[in-house]
Amino acid sequence: MVKPMRSIVIFGAVGALVAAVALPAYAASSGPVDAATTLQQVAVDDAQSLVVASAATASPLDRSTYGATTPEEIATKKAEEAAKARAAATAAAAAASSGASSRSFDVGNYALVSPGSGEVRYPLPRGSYTQGRTIGGGHNGADMLAPQGTPIYAAAAGVVRASAESIGGYGVAVMIDSVIGGQSVGTTYGHMTYGSRQVQAGQTVSAGQLIGFVGSTGRSTANHLHFEVWVNGGLYEPYGWLAANAG
Ligand SMILES: [Zn+2]
Repeated sequence: MVKPMRSIVIFGAVGALVAAVALPAYAASSGPVDAATTLQQVAVDDAQSLVVASAATASPLDRSTYGATTPEEIATKKAEEAAKARAAATAAAAAASSGASSRSFDVGNYALVSPGSGEVRYPLPRGSYTQGRTIGGGHNGADMLAPQGTPIYAAAAGVVRASAESIGGYGVAVMIDSVIGGQSVGTTYGHMTYGSRQVQAGQTVSAGQLIGFVGSTGRSTANHLHFEVWVNGGLYEPYGWLAANAG
């Protein structure tokens, strides 16, 4: 019971810290590129302080800390806390370098599953994004502009064809193969945040399942989801496809 609750508190606090630092950056920034860079840098910088925050948050909750009265006991407690912090740092570093989908994110007020009951779901929470450019001129997807860390959902149930930290210009990306109404539908989700993928290749996913978080990796200059829809091998215009099918 204690561990999950502590995790929620820690990640909530870090999320708040990132938001607090990021808001002035957005206000002062001349464009989304600067804001994106600042956000990513903040996230990187916070990777270490997260461990410190963990130890600091845990200490006041540890009743036995207050029972230490002699210098020796206090020294022992401090050594124990330091050992705990080192262990946490090692675990965090291992998780960060593994490239696995073990990283946690603060999803704020967003649902962990895309709302709705249909066979096709919006890949981003409704109202969380604005429409950027769509297909044409060699661009094969819809650029859905949303803040870094916005949850990304599988548009349909299927099997993950690809999930990697670097897929060419897509950067951190996930590709899913689905069958909808007897037609093969392939969806691609690009430019996710490093370390944010929640699914692995070969994995079966349900419609609306959380698969990652918005970022600006790969060939991208601002936080957004590059979303592609292929039906029976042919490219579809994603905004229109979603409007016609998602719910
Ligand atoms: Zn794009």
